[in-house]
Formats: sequence, structure tokens, C-alpha cells
Amino acid sequence: MPEDQLIDRYKRHLNYLRISITDRCNLRCIYCNPRLPGKKLQHKEVLRYEEILRIARLSVRLGINKIRVTGGEPLVRQGCCEFLEKLAAIDGLDDISLTTNGILLKPHIDTLLSAGIKRLNISLDTLKPEKYQQITGYDGFDQVWEGIQRALEKGFHPIKLNAVAINGVNDDELTQLAELSFQYPFHIRFIELMPIGKTAAPGAGPLLIPEIKKRIQTLGNLIPIRRTINDGPAMRYKFKDAMGEIGFISPVSNHFCSECNRLRLTADGHILNCLLSDVCEDIKAPLRLGLLDDDLKSVFLKAVARKPFQHPENLTLLTQPEPMVSIGG
Ligand code: SAM
Repeated sequence: MPEDQLIDRYKRHLNYLRISITDRCNLRCIYCNPRLPGKKLQHKEVLRYEEILRIARLSVRLGINKIRVTGGEPLVRQGCCEFLEKLAAIDGLDDISLTTNGILLKPHIDTLLSAGIKRLNISLDTLKPEKYQQITGYDGFDQVWEGIQRALEKGFHPIKLNAVAINGVNDDELTQLAELSFQYPFHIRFIELMPIGKTAAPGAGPLLIPEIKKRIQTLGNLIPIRRTINDGPAMRYKFKDAMGEIGFISPVSNHFCSECNRLRLTADGHILNCLLSDVCEDIKAPLRLGLLDDDLKSVFLKAVARKPFQHPENLTLLTQPEPMVSIGG
């Protein structure tokens, strides 16, 4: 049983930790990873796997029961699968999942499976190879698609495909992406573009969920799926007779702060209590000074105590100057 509950001032129960294991990525997505050379963390600045595991164990004792591993691109960090295996062995964790761009998925599928990962989120904003290259800076669509197919064959479930919808970039493909849910058991999730960091996201204006929903409803009625406690921010729907689902994540048009149950651990060892906050608590320094778990626990509790009720209504690039790749999406 958890020793303490991570409950904030607004009575939100924080049971979900997102762990970014690297700020490096093998893609340069226009909305996530600046194409201009930027500052990357030095090796010694990044938490070592043993350090992350210690923090994860502590977080579980405090009430975290759900962990998602992300980055940067988690699969570019050497030893990622061995780390995941150790993470999955922590007693008290009900759910571990991985967010990946899928480029390295195929060669890692078997190791991920034996590490105990069953749930995958894979970023896929387009079904057109050329556009994939335009968005990510790399000609990797086929690699990702093969990885997704292999994950399907191996029984990963759910496989969530995350598409950030951007006007003038992939707005012409919303129905094709949604159509995948008829043929495959994928959860296709449309995400509103957040203005984070100084990335190259085009200024074509946001494409918000109500508009996305309207456009894909040309495929049929979207039937709401009853929400469960583990759903997170996605509003879930299904087309009649479809194998998969459609999810909408609306951080801009209808933010879900009042239900936020998350904390984040950044690759450089800070606990961030809100994606759009620039206030974070350093847990690496006390850990490396050799402090005991009780002192590290107080770092968690401080982050929880300072969790804002919501992020600013009016999101601007200034709200969060760091790009998503550095924070850990
Ligand atoms: N490299 C992995 C990947 O591509 O899935 C994990 C890290 S990435 C930062 C995690 C998720 O954040 C991706 O699904 C990506 O689409 C999303 N993301 C990144 N920048 C975003 C932005 N500006 N607005 C909305 N979603 C964003």
C-alpha cells in the first residue's frame, strides 16, 4: 500500500508519472524538436537508469501506479528495454507504457514484449511518405508502418496512433487517418497542436477538435465510449462496426487541467507538475548528494503542493519556452 497519497491543493489525486529518459530524438518534427541546433543535455546531466528506477520506486510508494516512458525518443537511449524490464518489475505499478515515434520499433519489438510492455503510443501524423519526411525531417514512414504492423502481429494492445493535427500540413488527411480504425484495432488520437518552445510549427493556425470531429464525422456517427478511471485526457469514440477507436485530446480548446493526474520526471532530473509550467523541483541534486528516500519524498510533495490549478488560458510560445522534445511529451 502507498505510504502517502499525492493529493494536491485542489484534491486531485496524482497517480500518473511520465518519465522522459532522454532529450535526444532521431526525428525533427516541426512542432516538437527545433531544427536549428539547440542545447542538448550532457551525459552527466541526464539521470542514470538506476537513478530513475529509485525515483520510480519511491513514486510508487507515494501512490503513483501508472508510468509512461517518453522522451525525446526513448528507443534511442541505449539500454532502454533493459530499463523498461526493471521498471515493469516494480511492485505496485498497474500500468507501464511507452511513447515512441516508431522508427526503431521493429528491431525492438521482441525485447519490448519480453520487458513487459504491452501498451504503445506511436506518433503518426500522416500516411504519406513524402509528407512524413516534410514533418519529421526523415524519410521514415515505411519503417514506422512496418513497426506498427509488427506490434500488431505481436499482440500489443492498445496501439494508440497519435496525430498532431496541423492546418495546412495534415488537415487533408484527417479522414484517412480516422478510417484506419475500421480496418485495424488502433486507437487513432487527434491532438491539438500546442504552441510549445521555439519550434518550426507553421503559423497556419490551430486546428481544433470541434473542427476535426466535424470533418471525420463524414465517415459516420461517432459513438461515445464510456469513460473509465484510467482514460486520461482523451475523449473516446468509435464508429459503428469499427475495430478501433477515435480519441480527441484538446489541450487548447478544452483543457483538462481540472482532471490532471500527472507529474513528470524530466531527463535531467526535475519534477515538473504541469507541462506548461517553468517551475520544477530538482530531485537529481539531492539524490546525487546521497540523501535518503524521506528527503527525496519531500521533493515530490513540494511539486505536488505547488501544482497550479490550470495552465494559462491563453497559450503562447512564452508559456513554455522549452520545446516538447526537451520536456518529454
Ligand atoms: N519521440 C516520441 C514520439 O514521437 O512519440 C515521444 C516524445 S514526443 C514529445 C510525445 C508526443 O508529444 C508525440 O505524440 C508528439 O506528437 C506530441 N507532441 C510534441 N510536440 C507537440 C506539440 N507542440 N503539440 C502537441 N503535441 C505535441
